[in-house]
Amino acid sequence: MGRMKKQFAVIGLGRFGGAICRTLSEQGAEVLAIDSDEDRVNEFSTIATHAVIADSTDENVLKSLGLRNFDHVIVAIGDDIQASILTTLILKEMGVPRVTAKAQNDYHEKVLRKIGADHVIHPERDMGARLAHNITSTNVLDYLELSDEHSILEVVSGQKMHGKSLVDLDVRAKFGVNIVAIKKGSSINVSPRADQIVEEGDILIVIGADVDIDRFKNQLLEE
Ligand code: ATP
Repeated sequence: MGRMKKQFAVIGLGRFGGAICRTLSEQGAEVLAIDSDEDRVNEFSTIATHAVIADSTDENVLKSLGLRNFDHVIVAIGDDIQASILTTLILKEMGVPRVTAKAQNDYHEKVLRKIGADHVIHPERDMGARLAHNITSTNVLDYLELSDEHSILEVVSGQKMHGKSLVDLDVRAKFGVNIVAIKKGSSINVSPRADQIVEEGDILIVIGADVDIDRFKNQLLEE
């Protein structure tokens, strides 16, 4: 009760975990940085709120660090898949509400999900998919995967949309997707009204199931 700041812990301070730790700290969050490697921990001692040398596969160590009381723990151990799995399992058994884990491959990802990881990240694959979406369609500026089947897309309005209102376009009924925001120049209109007219150069933020988004793209964006 009454605790203002969210408490984060990052386990594994390689490139991935290190970047998370740095960015969270820059944003003013409370971050506990953990690694079994002394040099890595020293590197983060001035960046994170606390930095400790510890083996995260030791349940007693995680308990004594009070990880049970953290809001969100990120397991950024990559190469040692066994350590990553064991750490995630201990954290979920301890009752950490939110555990994000980095997966090295599909098998690793499957196991992490099975043992209760709340969010599994596969950085190389996710970035690859994101890049592919960005480069295959000239209209797509950015892409964010929400789940295996849902995404958010930032797209440039297609010619077929210009001069039409959101009611006219009716993308929700036709394709099952939602336009959640429209950017016009430097202004952004979040939750646009139904009578909003889509113009050339507008950037639309679209959310929906991947299959529906594909139909939307094929029908309204590709010339
Ligand atoms: P990245 O791909 O993010 O650069 P990396 O290749 O540098 O990672 P990984 O093997 O993926 O390193 O592990 C990341 C970090 O996790 C390393 O700094 C390593 O010391 C740490 N680590 C590995 N096992 C444990 C463990 N059981 N407890 C604590 N830290 C661990």
